[in-house]
Amino acid sequence: MDEQTARKLIVEIGKLMYDKGYVTSSDGNISCRLGENLILATPTQVSKGRMTEDIMALTDLEGKPLNDRRVSSEIQMHLLIYRMRPDINAVCHAHVPHGTAFAAAGLSIDAPILSEVILTLGCVPLTAYGTPSTSELTDSLKPYVEHHNALLLENHGVVAYGKDLWQAFDRLETLEHTAKIAILAKILGGANDLPKDAIEKLINIREKAGYLTEAARCQACGYLEHTDIKCSLDAESVNIGNSNGAKISFTREELIELLAQAANIG
Ligand SMILES: [Zn+2]
Repeated sequence: MDEQTARKLIVEIGKLMYDKGYVTSSDGNISCRLGENLILATPTQVSKGRMTEDIMALTDLEGKPLNDRRVSSEIQMHLLIYRMRPDINAVCHAHVPHGTAFAAAGLSIDAPILSEVILTLGCVPLTAYGTPSTSELTDSLKPYVEHHNALLLENHGVVAYGKDLWQAFDRLETLEHTAKIAILAKILGGANDLPKDAIEKLINIREKAGYLTEAARCQACGYLEHTDIKCSLDAESVNIGNSNGAKISFTREELIELLAQAANIG
């Protein structure tokens, strides 16, 4: 994406975030990857509802300033995501009220209650609290960045990312909408979970349609453990085909123990 279009879109998305109540005051930040080592980002201490195209900051992937604008200290969270995910070109961080309520209550958004969410976003895990702007925060995100497209930051807010600015914003919007529905359903007595076979069908559809890749099979969703959907990309697990062609997964520890037992028998 060319720089001028990116500046325009960041202003537009900032206004949407502010108008929808996803941020107040100077909360939140938005960034976009312009080149291999070039990031355009919202500057520090600015309302996302009142930005202009000329105020954006430029940095490299390590956070070194490349123009005279000071970037938000929360940029480190964005840069971690860009470094770990070459497929990601935009990041939105906000303090959305319903999503942040989950993060403040110490809950993930991972119940299989909405088909669209399984199709387009997957689970949103809770990452452990880290002081904003420090490596505590980025360290706690690291285990989740690779397989998820949005994260809850404990007692802080949320971050969503995508292949472009609109996809990052759409994922933020889906996260917030889901959190709101989950809270409302709880008031009505609790949402019903989708059955295992319905979840499996949705996961197959989302991969065929290209909404999410196979990496999302490795997400930290409690419900995935109750389906036949298995993560084949996790370095810690080994898949072995059995005579029916179905796959069985072992963790590294389980496999070592099994081999040790086999050796003892032998
Ligand atoms: Zn924040």
